[in-house]
Amino acid sequence: MPLSREILKGYEALQPFLAAMLDPELQAAFEAPDVCDFLVGNPEEPALPGYVEALQKWAVPEHRRWFAYGFGHPQAQEAAASGLSAELGLAFEPDDILLTRGAHGALAMAMHLVAEPGDEVVFVSPPWFFYEVMIMGSNATPVRVRADMTTFDLDLDAIEAALTPRTKMVLINTPNNPTGRIYPAETLERLASTLERHARAVGHDVYLLSDESYSKVLYDGNRMITPARWYANTFLVHTYSKSSLAPGQRLGYLAMPPAMAGREDFRNGSLLVGVATSNGFPDAVMQYALSDIEGIELDMDRLQRRRDRVLGALRSFGYDVHTPEGTFYLLPKCPQDDDLAWCRRLAREHVAVLPGSACEMPGWFRISLTGTDEMVERALPIFERMI
Ligand code: PMP
Repeated sequence: MPLSREILKGYEALQPFLAAMLDPELQAAFEAPDVCDFLVGNPEEPALPGYVEALQKWAVPEHRRWFAYGFGHPQAQEAAASGLSAELGLAFEPDDILLTRGAHGALAMAMHLVAEPGDEVVFVSPPWFFYEVMIMGSNATPVRVRADMTTFDLDLDAIEAALTPRTKMVLINTPNNPTGRIYPAETLERLASTLERHARAVGHDVYLLSDESYSKVLYDGNRMITPARWYANTFLVHTYSKSSLAPGQRLGYLAMPPAMAGREDFRNGSLLVGVATSNGFPDAVMQYALSDIEGIELDMDRLQRRRDRVLGALRSFGYDVHTPEGTFYLLPKCPQDDDLAWCRRLAREHVAVLPGSACEMPGWFRISLTGTDEMVERALPIFERMI
């Protein structure tokens, strides 16, 4: 086997995801020209209004170094800092916005900034597919804690029980993929005091890594609440993949709140991480365009209508499905135990959905609301018939 042993270790952690994504029957459905595609959060239309214009405008060089090597562009950091400050009601400094290639890059940046070999990083299950393998990739040890499966809220007692003197970081994701849960303020406040207590007891900093990728995908008038309001040592992960529905154009950042200790070290350290792991900065055109992309808004009224339509219809057909408070996803229980077999049955009807076992939710399936309304109307009678 030519692969390094280090990378092979991650392979096992990725197996459930790969088994679902590479399943030949699901693949065939996904590739069918008439597929109703609810598989992952891909764009339903080529781009939101204003997106292509922003890229075209900033692709035209204004000086001879336009496409030169570079780090984070100060104008991009300023635009992101002002957008984030307005969104969360905390005053972020432009220098504390570390520009990355999407949320994926921001998560990796945070882990590499603080994790030492042997450190533990606690993450919450059901997780985003790549958390475990990313923690392993930063040479830390992943520690899995299950969410409260009745409310999908954090299980704070279980998190507390998982903390050890080796815990360097706790990773949470709100609004949550795949459950759609927004963690309530009281939960985040209690998590903050738990971590503060633990950090004092063990005598070193414990960081919170808050994946806020869906901070703008909120239903029912919900507001984004960041744990950084209560916990100073919070790294915030933000991305434009969701808000601009163009995840192939990589743009995001890791933000540090004004109260975080050691921000200056992390600013400098981010350059080292970049050098050591690869040049993780977004491409120049994406950085120039950030200020325009910041102003592009997802049509949440339309998405809310789609969520309500699918949710109402599925319930009327007899599906057991809770109401997501944010994100692109519905997470119903499968009408049969084997979620892969269930998704294959739907795939044969050219409806592509994700088996829950891809994200540690065997027996469930995930529907991405990024499919079109036309796909929804075509798929609903199939969901009705199949149950
Ligand atoms: N975190 C979560 C919870 C996600 O759902 C995703 C994308 N599906 C990411 C991170 C990665 O986002 P990006 O495309 O910005 O790297």
